[in-house]
Order: sequence, then C-alpha cells, then structure tokens
Amino acid sequence: MLLMPNILVTGGAGYIGSHTVYQLQRQGFTVSVIDDLSKGHSASVPADALHVCSLFDHPQLVALMRSGRIDAVIHFAAFISVGESGKEPEKYFHNNTAGSMSLFAAMAEAGVRKLVFSSTAAVYGNPTQVPIPETAAIQAVNPYGESKVMVEKVLDWLDTARGVRSVRLRYFNACGANNDAGLGERHDPETHLIPLILRAVRTGRPVTLFGDDYPTPDGTCIRDYIHVDDLASAHIAAVNYLLGGGATAAFNAGTGRGYSVREVINAVERVTGKEVPHTIGPRREGDPAQLVADSSKLRQTLDWQPRHSTLEEIVESAWVFENRNFA
Ligand code: UDP
Repeated sequence: MLLMPNILVTGGAGYIGSHTVYQLQRQGFTVSVIDDLSKGHSASVPADALHVCSLFDHPQLVALMRSGRIDAVIHFAAFISVGESGKEPEKYFHNNTAGSMSLFAAMAEAGVRKLVFSSTAAVYGNPTQVPIPETAAIQAVNPYGESKVMVEKVLDWLDTARGVRSVRLRYFNACGANNDAGLGERHDPETHLIPLILRAVRTGRPVTLFGDDYPTPDGTCIRDYIHVDDLASAHIAAVNYLLGGGATAAFNAGTGRGYSVREVINAVERVTGKEVPHTIGPRREGDPAQLVADSSKLRQTLDWQPRHSTLEEIVESAWVFENRNFA
C-alpha cells in the first residue's frame, strides 16, 4: 500500500487551517495539528489530531515532528488583523515573525525541509498595477504585512542554507464556509466584510461601508474574494508540488476577478432576498482601492483552479453558516 505523507498543520483550528485539515484528511493524508487556541476553535478539528501547543514550545514541536514522521509543514498560525497590527506591532512581530522562527528552528532539528506558508496580499502594500503579479514590488504598509514579508525573506535564506523548500501562498480575501464540514468564519471580533454584511441582514443593525469615494467605478473598494475551500485546495496542491520536488516559490492565491463592496452587497441581497441595512462611513486607514490577484502562476504551476468562488456560492455558503451558528 502506498504510504500517504504526514503533514503538520500549525493553526489548524483557525478559519483557513481547519478547512485545509478537513480536505487533507479526506484525501488520506495523516494530519497532526498544533494550535494554541488563542484564536482557533478546538471543535473545528478532530480531537485525535489536535495538539494544544504554542509555536514557541520548541521541545514539543520537535517531539511531534519526530514521532509523527512529518514530511511537510503547513504553517497558518498567525494573527491577522491589519488594524490591530498598527496599534500593537510588537504583538505581530512576536507571534507571526518570531513564532515562525521558533517553528523553523524545530523543523531544522527534526530534519523537516518542506513548508507551505500563509502569506498575504498585504506584502504588496498599495500596488501600482492591478491585477498584481508575484513580481510586483514587495512594500508592506502595515506591521501585519511586514511580519509576513520578514518570514518570506527568512525562507529564502533557509532555502540557500539548508535546502528548505517553501511555497508562500499570498492570500487575497478568504471567505465562505463549508457547511458539510460545519466549518466557517468565526473571528472574534469579526472584521471581515461578508460576515458583517450577513450579520447586518440578520440583525437589522447596519454595516458601515468604509468609503465610497475611491477611484473605482462605484466608489467602493475592489477585492478578490476567494472561497476558503479553494484556498484550502491550493495548500494541498502546494504540498504535493513540494513533495514532488518543486522549488521554492511564491504564488498569489486569488481568483483574478475583483468585486466592489457594493457588488458584494448586491450579491447578498440577491441570495438572501433581503435588503442590506448599511451606512457610508469614512475610509479605513490602509485600505488600497483595488487588490486583485494575477493568479495565472498558481493555475499553471500547481494545476489549480477555483471551483467554489463565484460570489453567489461564497455568499450562499456563508449565509447558511451564519444562520446555523449565530442566529
Ligand atoms: N469593509 C467595509 N466595511 C466593513 C468591513 C470591510 O466596507 O465593516 C470593506 C473594506 O474597506 C475592504 C473590503 O470591505 O474594502 C474587504 O475588507 P475585509 O476587512 O473583509 O478584508 P481585507 O481587504 O481588509 O483583507
């Protein structure tokens, strides 16, 4: 019988991590999860796969990698709030950057040399071209993005120094839910557009649109919304690529199609059959007018394509999740 690879997933109890763990297990990978549960939910991961462990617990990380005969690590564990990162940069550089260094030191000790890393479109800052190719300038404009840039740079040196092959997936806007798996977006506090719009529909309390005077056709910001299950499948494609001997690379993980905030509102009104109560507020600091991926490299190199990322499917799945879990 063919032995399936053993994968260690950090932050596997979080939003994107839990969807990826679900798909990995369905495809027969042996999965160990570490999560400190500071943000993640233990119920989002099968109990027998979950190890409650910090990225800074070097002995436990090494022991887990050795006993699990880990072939590759998928590293999600990180804080994700851009706004908070501007107010508390130390927290982001400690958890996201120093935490990654601790993980990499444990990988070195255990001899693990394949890594898929959760990076972000925030590494591009305010892009000068849209759609954004991976070759665009790296110029983060907030500590969250910079905390990821620093890790990407370290990964280049680990490749040179020790042959660590890594894939950095630069996420655009993850959204949607997998209701068969009982998984979806549960951030606390929630700051993301789609769950906030759905909450406004459900509760009648208006959502605030952050600015309608951007240089876009309807004045609201344009983002590239990618269903979390499509993002999860990109991680699996990345793991397979690395296990097959693929070289270190960065890929934009988006659909290549952008939607404005108003277009998202219209989609929610179509799906729910209800009006979205909303008000217009000032711009949110640090929001570029448009972030849309050029995802051709991911499609071509990893033979990946989005299968669930129409705005309708995203909103429908998130609406079912909202009503099942928050009503
Ligand atoms: N947005 C908004 N109101 C909100 C939350 C978000 O208008 O309450 C806008 C935000 O300005 C951005 C888009 O929705 O243009 C997506 O924001 P989100 O926070 O979901 O993701 P981000 O783009 O920051 O990763």
